[in-house]
Formats: sequence, structure tokens, C-alpha cells
Amino acid sequence: MAHLQAIQVGRYSIERLYEHLTPQDRSALVQQCRGSADRGPTVWHVNSTAAGGGVAEMIAPLVGYGREIGLDIRWLVIQASPEFFEVTKRVDNGISGISGDGGALGEAEHKTYSNTSREAAAGLRDHVRSGDFVFLHDPQTAGLVAEISRIGATPIWRAHNGADRPNEHTERSWAFLHRYLTEVSAFAFTMPHFSPAWMTSRPLYTITPFIDPGSPKNARMNAGHAADVLADWGIVSGDQQSKATRRATIVREGPAPKTSTPMLAQVSRWDPVKDMEGVLTAFAEHLVDDTEAYLSLIGPEVTGVADDPEAEEYFERCVSLYKKLPEPVRRRCQLVCLPMGDRTANAMAVNAAQTHAAVVAQKSVSEGFGLTVAEAMWKGTAVVASDVGGISLQIEHDTSGVLVDWDDLQQFARSVDSLLNDSASRQEMGSAARERVRNLFLPNKHFLSELDLIDDLAKGHHL
Ligand code: UDP
Repeated sequence: MAHLQAIQVGRYSIERLYEHLTPQDRSALVQQCRGSADRGPTVWHVNSTAAGGGVAEMIAPLVGYGREIGLDIRWLVIQASPEFFEVTKRVDNGISGISGDGGALGEAEHKTYSNTSREAAAGLRDHVRSGDFVFLHDPQTAGLVAEISRIGATPIWRAHNGADRPNEHTERSWAFLHRYLTEVSAFAFTMPHFSPAWMTSRPLYTITPFIDPGSPKNARMNAGHAADVLADWGIVSGDQQSKATRRATIVREGPAPKTSTPMLAQVSRWDPVKDMEGVLTAFAEHLVDDTEAYLSLIGPEVTGVADDPEAEEYFERCVSLYKKLPEPVRRRCQLVCLPMGDRTANAMAVNAAQTHAAVVAQKSVSEGFGLTVAEAMWKGTAVVASDVGGISLQIEHDTSGVLVDWDDLQQFARSVDSLLNDSASRQEMGSAARERVRNLFLPNKHFLSELDLIDDLAKGHHL
């Protein structure tokens, strides 16, 4: 039976955020929150997983910091059957402009979707009250809109993914969702052009995601510490005596790379949209002979993300591509699945990989907003990423990273190669990247956008 689960998050020390802000940004946040704290409405965030994936990464600090600055922010997660997530994954893939598993989105899928949503919505009244504001994240939650409206709360639907150009897949997914979104009070997108034309019937806001600079994933880690953490997971070889004490699933031939070997890393879910296969192919065909770099493709263990049923199949595809590569290439790359059970340990491994890597890749086919891109930028690491979706907003080409065409393996390889050969550019780019994240993609900016949106809706300004 589908249901909603309330997720508890403890208070986050606000100093963990403040220490990274400019004095101006800090006072803007204090100012804005002074108006909203204590007398503001209860704000809910509803998504489909408490751990794993970008949305969960953001809601936890929103609740944690929000409580600390006096905002009443709460979190619900929809728990449902694999059949439901199969449908929503298909819809989400379509929104990203890709076909996904190629399955249907017809009346049978509507039945699965609406029955599950109805079951979950039955629990809303235990939590949400009239006057509350409810941010519903992604396709998994659109089926809750009508009930939230009936309760007298304000539903805001937020899509994290999107495609730069509409195509048959986006059209099909938007057509599927349309009937569930008619009573929404406002829409929020990372990039306005991700939204379909019919959404102009309601106000549309732009809210960019953020990373939490105080989290174990993004806290400053020095080079030695990063290497130790990776050695602990067996991702690099530590000193002679040390042995990996943590267990990750690693597909590799030969020993782990030495810490002194430059690493090209991509950290992301095992999903066709992230194109781990493209990175592997570009590395094998265009980089292995010209560089001494070692490639690490790192993702979560494939059974760890509840709303991502395709991960296992895609990981297997990557493994079979790896197995077909010539032996000398196989000895220069590894596929790593990090366990998700211990969230802090997982986050520190991601932090270590993004810190240790000479270059981080994000060769996505489409991307609403790449948290992994922002995370690597925050560590001052040079990033080579596809010029798609939200990434085009995150990176200014050649200043705070390098943007490449997602389908041009040679261009990708050339960009990685030239950065691997130029440590001064890597450093300069890394510093610019960190400043860009500080200015645009930390939680303070997100709070301001969210509070502005709520203020607008509460005052009826959008009408
Ligand atoms: N991630 C993680 N552990 C992993 C792999 C990824 O915690 O083993 C995190 C990653 O650090 C990032 C999030 O999952 O914070 C992925 O967000 P992104 O926006 O890059 O992509 P999404 O998964 O939302 O499509």
C-alpha cells in the first residue's frame, strides 16, 4: 500500500553555512528570514526518496537549516511499489527528452499512477493543514496536487529535470502529467525553457538547486585526507601497509591506481542519461594512449536508490562494455559502486573522489541541474561537462569549467586531455568554479527564491 512517510531532520548549525557567505549574502538572508520566521506558513517538501539522488540531497539541508533560522519546513516521502516507480521513471526520462525503457504511457500506466497517488494522498491530512505551502518534486508527486488543493494548502510543482528542446519523449511525458497538474498554484523549474507551453496557465518560477557547503560531501578535505579515504575504499592504492577497510563493488583489472596517477572521475547514478558509457568509450578511444590518467566511474550501489529501477540494468551494460575493452585499457579504468547504507561514509567517498580527481567529467545527455558538477566545482576541481540543461547555467565555458557537446567524444577527450596537461589552467578554473558556486548555488540563494515565491503567492501578486 502506497503511503507518505515523514522524514525527520535535526537542526543544522547555521554557522556551517554562514562561514562561506559574503557579508552581503549573509545579511540578505538574515533580513529575509526575519520577515518570515515564526509567523511564516508551514512549508512542505514532498519527493520520492529520502536518500540517493539530487532532490533528497537538497531537501535535507533545507529542513535542517530552515529550522535553525526559524522557518517551519518539513519533509514527506512517497513510498510506493516498483510498478509505480517504473511508470514515474518513464515519465521522468521523457521529461529529460529520452526514451528510457521504451515502455508505454497509456491508460494502464495512468491507472497504476493514479491509484498509487490516491493511496498516498489519503495520508496527506495527517500532515498538511489548510494554509500550508507544499512543494511537490518531480513526476512521482504530481498525483498529490488535487488532494493538497482540497485541503486548502497551496501546491507548487517543481520539476528538476528538463530538455533543452521538446521532442516526442518530452511531449509524451508532459501529456501524461497534464491532467494531474491542473490545480497547481505555481510551477518551478531550474530553467524556464524546460516547461511545456500549456504551463503558462499558472505562474512559473525559476529556482536553481544548491549544494550544502557544510555537509560531509562538501566540507573542505585536504589532498592527503582525500587520498586516505579513497584508499580505504580500495579506489586508490594506499601505502604498502594499509589495506582497504571498506567494501565497495569494484570492477577492475589489476591494482588500484596510485595516488600520484592523475584521475579522471565521473560520479553519478547509473543511468543512461549520465552517459558513463560515453566517458568509458572516449577514454578508451581517445585518451588512454595520450595520457597517463586513470578513469574512475563512480556511482551508488545499484540496489540502493528506491525510485531508480533501471540502475542495475544500466550498470550491467557498462560492465559489459568494460569487458569488451582491450586488456591494457581495462587496467586503466574502474567501475565503482559505493554502498549507500552509511550515508556519511558514502558522502565522504564522493567528496574524496571529487577532491582527488585532476578532472571531473559530467558527460550527461541531458541534465536538469548537475549537483555533481556543482559539488566538484566547489572543491576547486576542473570540470568538463556537457553543454546541456542546467549545466550550461552552472559553468561559464573556459572560465569556471569546460562545456562540450554531449555527443562529441573527441571534443570531450581533447578538453580533458588539455586540462590534464595544464595544471595552471586547472587551478585557475577550479578557483573560478568555487567562487561561482559561492555566489549562486549555496542554500541562501535557494531560501531567498523559495520565500519570494511563497510571498508572491500569499499576496496574490502573480494574478
Ligand atoms: N551521489 C551519491 N553517491 C553516489 C553517487 C552520487 O551521493 O555514489 C550523489 C551525488 O553526489 C549528487 C547526487 O547523488 O549529490 C546526484 O545528483 P545530480 O543532480 O548530479 O543527478 P541526479 O541523480 O539528481 O540526476
